[in-house]
Amino acid sequence: MPSTSTVTVGIDIGSTASKAVVMADGEIAAAYIGPSTVNPSKTAREVFKKALDAAKMDSGRVSYIVGTGYGRAKVDFAHENTSEISCHARGAHYLLPQVRTIIDIGGQDTKAIGVDHSGNLREFAMNDKCAAGTGRFLDFMARTMDMDINEMAALHFQDGEPALISSMCSVFAESEVINLVNEEVPLPSIIKGLHKSVANRLKTLARRVGVEKEIVVTGGVAKNTGVVDMLRQTLGQDFVRFPDDIDPQVIGALGAAVIASGKI
Ligand code: ADP
Repeated sequence: MPSTSTVTVGIDIGSTASKAVVMADGEIAAAYIGPSTVNPSKTAREVFKKALDAAKMDSGRVSYIVGTGYGRAKVDFAHENTSEISCHARGAHYLLPQVRTIIDIGGQDTKAIGVDHSGNLREFAMNDKCAAGTGRFLDFMARTMDMDINEMAALHFQDGEPALISSMCSVFAESEVINLVNEEVPLPSIIKGLHKSVANRLKTLARRVGVEKEIVVTGGVAKNTGVVDMLRQTLGQDFVRFPDDIDPQVIGALGAAVIASGKI
């Protein structure tokens, strides 16, 4: 990378994971994902450094930094911070300009985001009031069933009809899952039932912004193939996919880096 290149960094301090993306001359140079901690300022510095290390650059090369996410105010070395909703819109648009609807499934909230042809925010709807439907809910349910999230996603693709999980509340949903396990309902059915309850919530959210094609799923839970499969069936729509070398969990940080590139 020539030392004259323009380097920007986007840092997304989420409720569960902290992400940084380095861009050089408008191209993605490196990305890093680490756990969020009780010290978001320190975590922000760490993910910043790790992403720069991965890009083989030092911080002196960076012209502009944008912070985003739940803990964006704690990215105290950023030049500015901005909402993760705009960042998801810009990040998804940078990679897939045809996208008009983004469904973001994070650790602690879910969002449906409408984007125009320039990657600007058209409309959004958000659920941050309740754990049900989020990554944390799925992590919690996996623990209840004594398996990890990848095993859960794999079981989703085994035969079985989705069990009915009717509760809208994660605490009551857990009781329903325990009852289903005790009744010896096969695990693939219970897991599909859970994924269906998540997908139904996301469908309601997505309808609030109007589901326009093309649609993409972002956030850490976009890597949960079981949830994405059930969401596709529930919406009756296919999704576009990011290139294979792009982790959908870094789209907010990428959008922040893209916004930073526009500032210099
Ligand atoms: P936030 O920005 O709120 O911290 P993220 O978009 O980073 O949220 O997503 C975090 C969530 O993604 C966690 O609940 C985690 O379990 C989930 N997640 C991360 N990687 C995977 C994966 N490979 N498969 C399924 N879920 C995943």
